[in-house]
Amino acid sequence: MMIRFAILPLLLALNLSMCKKQQAVTDKPQPAASAAPGSAAATAAPVVAATPKIKKPVVDQTAQVLIFCYHRLVDKIRYPGTEITPAAFEAQMKELKDKGITVISMQDLLAWKRGEKNIPPRAAVVTFDDGWKSQYEVAWPIMKKYGYPVTLFIYTEGVRGGTLGGGEAITWEQLADMRDNGVDIQAHSATHQDLREGHTVMVIEDRKRSKKKLTGADYEKWIQNEVVGSKELLEQRLGIKVNCFAVPFGNYNEHVKELARNAGYEAMFTVYGQPITFTSPMDSIGRYAIEANKPKVFADAVNMIGASSGGGTAVAEVGAKDLTTQPADGDTVRTATPLIKANLSSVGQIEPGSVQMRVSGLGLVPANFDPKTGTVSYQVPQKLRDKTCTVIVSAKSEGKKVETHWTFGLEEATAARSPAAAAKK
Ligand SMILES: [Zn+2]
Repeated sequence: MMIRFAILPLLLALNLSMCKKQQAVTDKPQPAASAAPGSAAATAAPVVAATPKIKKPVVDQTAQVLIFCYHRLVDKIRYPGTEITPAAFEAQMKELKDKGITVISMQDLLAWKRGEKNIPPRAAVVTFDDGWKSQYEVAWPIMKKYGYPVTLFIYTEGVRGGTLGGGEAITWEQLADMRDNGVDIQAHSATHQDLREGHTVMVIEDRKRSKKKLTGADYEKWIQNEVVGSKELLEQRLGIKVNCFAVPFGNYNEHVKELARNAGYEAMFTVYGQPITFTSPMDSIGRYAIEANKPKVFADAVNMIGASSGGGTAVAEVGAKDLTTQPADGDTVRTATPLIKANLSSVGQIEPGSVQMRVSGLGLVPANFDPKTGTVSYQVPQKLRDKTCTVIVSAKSEGKKVETHWTFGLEEATAARSPAAAAKK
């Protein structure tokens, strides 16, 4: 006990010195001694010393999620590859309810993947692509009737008034109305084309369209607008945060993924449907595209998780907020080569050889574990490239596997590829 309390304030102080944002400080319970000078915390009531708590598993790592992707809802099907009737759509929404599959929001799915929030064992996320006005006029009322959250993936030139936005397209006003009522609006590129280099694409310049085969710098400029520009436009026009990218037709590659990650996308989506599990990679999350000409897709998807026994290895998830970690969960650090630490002493007796640390972008790393202090640490040797870093620490305690996840931001990460910028620091 003495050791634990001796270490805690020290680590908290370390964390504090790395905090830039006032918000990050006030978010966490802090011992009185660590109140930042001049901050509101200095005048706050005395705070009891932080007591490490052990949470029961907060995240069900055996849960499975189906993500559905719809396009247009029309009474008379003319394009069965992207359309479905409102009646068929509603029947599917009802079936989810009848089968005990809980429709959750995209942001809840992501929070679960981060280890922050639990979700029901069998869940679904319903998404709509391409921004058709029937999504506003027909699909949304049905979703509201069932109390289901909605995510839209919008390609910005396809919104009404954009170069590709015709009379059936959703308008910015409709998007704003949906945003005001809790609809999650996410990115689906600017012009909805194959994003890989070397393809002939339709290019829009001064609202004029032409076909070009883009390579080199011309391609880089174009793809930047597709991946980053579309995100910024949605964020600025609607005042939202965009953290998901649905890849048009699912056509992308490592370069596109890297651009998307650097732009701050947390998750990338394809149309290769599969049940999403806790360990599904975030840069290729499969969705089931539900279309009138493939009626079996929905039924098969539902059966996929319906048949599941919900088994899997039991892992006790320890909330990162109840451990002392460095950098702390949610913090942003200035260095791209951080020292990563977690104090596992609150978890219980740790089997020394069982401790593993995984770092996003690096994989399994050779972390040190000090059994005396219960601290696992790893000094990142080379600059991390991504703007956010997730750490997963697992260990065995009294024969049981325990695991914790946390995520922090890196201010310098985007500069990592530019030696000149790094040298200035
Ligand atoms: Zn699409």
